[in-house]
Amino acid sequence: MKRRRACPECDLVVALPALKAGQAANCPRCKRELTYRAHAPAERVLAYALSALIMLAFTMPFSFMSFALGGQAQDIVLLDTATAFRSNDWPLLSILIAATVLVLPGLYLIAVVYVYSAVALRQYWMGAIWLARAISSIKPWLMTDVFLVGVLVSLVKLLGMADIQLGMSFWAFCGYVILLVKTVSNIDTDWMWFALRHEAKTPYVAKAGVDALSQGLVGCDSCGLLNRIEQGHCRRCFRKLRMPGRHRIEWCLALLLTASILYIPANLYPMMRTVTVGGTVDSTIIGGVWQMAEMGSYLVAAIIFFASIIIPIAKIAVLSWLCFVIRRPQPLSVERRVYWYRVVEFIGRWSMIDVFVVAIMVALIQAGALLSIYPGPAAMAFAAVVVLTMLAAMAFDPKALWHPERVRFDVQEWKHERHL
Ligand SMILES: [Zn+2]
Ligand SMILES: [Zn+2]
Repeated sequence: MKRRRACPECDLVVALPALKAGQAANCPRCKRELTYRAHAPAERVLAYALSALIMLAFTMPFSFMSFALGGQAQDIVLLDTATAFRSNDWPLLSILIAATVLVLPGLYLIAVVYVYSAVALRQYWMGAIWLARAISSIKPWLMTDVFLVGVLVSLVKLLGMADIQLGMSFWAFCGYVILLVKTVSNIDTDWMWFALRHEAKTPYVAKAGVDALSQGLVGCDSCGLLNRIEQGHCRRCFRKLRMPGRHRIEWCLALLLTASILYIPANLYPMMRTVTVGGTVDSTIIGGVWQMAEMGSYLVAAIIFFASIIIPIAKIAVLSWLCFVIRRPQPLSVERRVYWYRVVEFIGRWSMIDVFVVAIMVALIQAGALLSIYPGPAAMAFAAVVVLTMLAAMAFDPKALWHPERVRFDVQEWKHERHL
């Protein structure tokens, strides 16, 4: 019998066809890719993940960037970009940068190597299930590619100010980012879980072409397996099943409201404070954009404007709007709403660019009274906005765009009606 899956974005139960290498299966309704068969998937992912880990080790010991100005020189290693905030009284920002650029990607790669080695050797290793679940949970928080763009933006910003040199670690970091992106894009969770734990026997037949919830079923967020609602936890990966309901929208709106409030100080307070012989200059987000445009760096001005102004506002506006119109048939078709949800979910993490730029500049530009850069309170507020809007997008239930009745779903009521 063909394996059944509930589409993670529209809840339609789909019978997965037997796939050959190079083929993919998409949801017939919302067109989301459900699974993809690569050639030699285990070996391919292992090769990328191991190479990425080796590159990660090379990003640490050598010089990342150096700058020289008027006889003063400063040389930083990659970790300095994270610790720079700590020495400036913003320890939370230090933790956030270290986590998204180094710690979580490192743990992610170790988990991938462990799980895929177990799969390739056809062995059951202790903790493999827990680590396989961690692979899905960590994925949205990997921001190495965003950090790399942040480095490039800082380079352009600094070109006119001082003599900047890129160190060995910078080139290792570029390799690490490319290999990590390749690892992530080659992981197919459906294949990974099937290879790791096979398919649990289904005690019932889920009807394809009908929504899972209306059959009393729910797809696991982590491994995709269909489970009965009353089971509470996934039979294969033991993760708690995420139920639809009012609480999802309420969480989403609460997070969006907090993000909107924090977006005000993020724009009013300075992001960065530049101290030179001539005095101290504070620059806000929009001030920084203006400054770059005046210096003729239109591309950098456009990138920062898009990442720090357009993306957060668009994300808050689109998600709030989706929450409010979810139970109304108009305006816009379901397909258009899904399209906008996918857009904001995809672009959300890129708004971290400016926070990374500040981290790099603060770590690198420390030449005493000649030229020094310090972080402003807006950096913390803005980082919080990015994290909160990402959490809001995760709390939002995209399946409710197709089935507004999911918003009213109550698992206790559902069980009570069926005497469970
Ligand atoms: Zn779908
Ligand atoms: Zn599961």
